[in-house]
Amino acid sequence: METTYTGYVTKSATDTPGLLLEPPSGGSFRFDPGALCLELLTTGGPGRLAAYEVLHDPAALLRWVADSRLSAGLQLDADDAGVAGARVLRHALWRMAAARAHGGDTDPADVAVVNEAAAAPPLAARIGADGSRQWAPGGATVTQLLSTVARDAVDLFTGPHAHRIRECGSHDCGLLFVDTSRPGRRRWCSMERCGNRNKVRAHRARLPGGEGGEGGEG
Ligand SMILES: [Zn+2]
Repeated sequence: METTYTGYVTKSATDTPGLLLEPPSGGSFRFDPGALCLELLTTGGPGRLAAYEVLHDPAALLRWVADSRLSAGLQLDADDAGVAGARVLRHALWRMAAARAHGGDTDPADVAVVNEAAAAPPLAARIGADGSRQWAPGGATVTQLLSTVARDAVDLFTGPHAHRIRECGSHDCGLLFVDTSRPGRRRWCSMERCGNRNKVRAHRARLPGGEGGEGGEG
């Protein structure tokens, strides 16, 4: 049975970049993967990543949009078929990003999924009367949403940071991000989580008499 969910995406008061992730291990942390298309990867994924699935229904897709770097005010008509389409695109993006991160081959079938999604018209942005960035009034479709995500992937995978897609350096993390920093030395999903955990670990390993190489104290 199809359920259609229409709702306005409203953003929380904070404008902090990144998604608030709540891993099963407890706690929460902000993770900015550096690109819209990689933000979709936090909602679950293929294979063993199915354990992290959160895109179960249209409301969940709207929650992701609200948390993502798409700005607020988007009116989206989502149904179960749209959610299924989002998962298909997400799985293709997972495999492509992982291949980039680990130096593997990209499956042309995954590229075809991205290209097909990108071929549809994207979300329509506009400049509001107050000068702010807005979405065109009226309900947008999931097809438009996925086109916008897929076009972001086209930009990422063909752009200057395509070789900077990486997996978090923590052995038990697995989050993927693109390093858009100028020096290009980003190693962690977030300093708040894996960065600090590994700093503590490295510090312990160096004891006694060790010295932190990165400066700063948490
Ligand atoms: Zn991490």
